[in-house]
Amino acid sequence: MDAAEFRRRGKEMVDYVADYLENIENRPVFSDIEPGYLRSLIPTEAPLEPENYEDIIKDVERVIMPGITHWHSPYFFAYFPAASSYPALLADMLCGAIGCIGFSWAASPACTELETVMLDWLGKMLQLPESFIAGTHGSGGGVIQGTASEATLMSLLAARCKAIRRVQAVNSTYSESDILGKLVAYTSEQAHSSVERAALIGGVMMKKVPTDNNYAVRGEMLKGIMEKDKAAGLIPFYFCATLGTTPSCAFDHITELGPLCNKENMWMHIDAAYAGSAFICPEFRPLLNGIEFADSFNFNPHKWLLINFDCSALWVKKRTDIIGAFKMEPLYLKHENQESGLVTDYRHWQIPLGRRFRSLKLWFVFRMYGLQGLQAHIRK
Ligand SMILES: *Cc1c(COP(=O)(O)O)cnc(C)c1O
Repeated sequence: MDAAEFRRRGKEMVDYVADYLENIENRPVFSDIEPGYLRSLIPTEAPLEPENYEDIIKDVERVIMPGITHWHSPYFFAYFPAASSYPALLADMLCGAIGCIGFSWAASPACTELETVMLDWLGKMLQLPESFIAGTHGSGGGVIQGTASEATLMSLLAARCKAIRRVQAVNSTYSESDILGKLVAYTSEQAHSSVERAALIGGVMMKKVPTDNNYAVRGEMLKGIMEKDKAAGLIPFYFCATLGTTPSCAFDHITELGPLCNKENMWMHIDAAYAGSAFICPEFRPLLNGIEFADSFNFNPHKWLLINFDCSALWVKKRTDIIGAFKMEPLYLKHENQESGLVTDYRHWQIPLGRRFRSLKLWFVFRMYGLQGLQAHIRK
């Protein structure tokens, strides 16, 4: 395919996408095919000779669409909503075209810098405390993760590293594995399964805190379990609160839990994956009160804020906590500006090395809707 054909096919594809989304309600939202349906519809081997684009695009309707669950259909009520919008789709095209792998500032300065500023814009929409905003305070900042699961895992691993260093600073005879065996994390019995999974991957014990009649964790409940664990020689180091639980959209009482976590040196992470988008509306913002006690906060614009998957926003109060836990500096990734302290190398903020230019989606959507447009979307 040359550039001329790409131009033509690209325009056709945009028409196809617009038609698909405009008429999506005419398709059955859930397909009735049998498991394994697809294998019989296409060859068993990749083609040796190149094929025609015409044949490929025809196969989208024949092979793919019958097996699609149409998440953007007005008849789709499963799981959580998946956000999407035309500005986000256009930004995603541009992201694909630029095709940079923005692991460090030097790997594409705009990719890093736009992300930092967009997370500031978004953080200000949520009225996050200044300590989370990179441009005003300096110690905190935001990063785009793929999913809330990764954000939770990152926070747990950073907290684990911090706890190990803290214990070793007081008691240098303890080995890392001595300490690991004593660390204990907490979350609500109502928390999303990804939180428990983070502890499983992070190799630490996690205990589930019971909830009140509204399915919310209260300060006293965490305190009770934690005191017992401390008396038994364990080291409480992490609590993941949920704002908007998966079973019932319950809100843990972070105004009670936060001060307790701060006092006990426990990292408080807040998982607001679904409900977090609503905090851009002043009338819902009180649900986020207590955020000032958190070490990290996460929500998914890809659920309810018109940004298509993937885009999960994570803020930390102290960037050194997260960078300190994951920094590796092989020679082939070094660049001349990294020691200046002025640049962010987002590879230290995430598990993979490579990362897409996802902040373009935020930039396009924020500008096309404005805060008022986004608030109207939430209210509707
Ligand atoms: C959706 C959701 C998750 C999982 O989100 P991913 O981004 O798919 O990992 C976790 N926690 C809560 C509260 C959620 O609503």
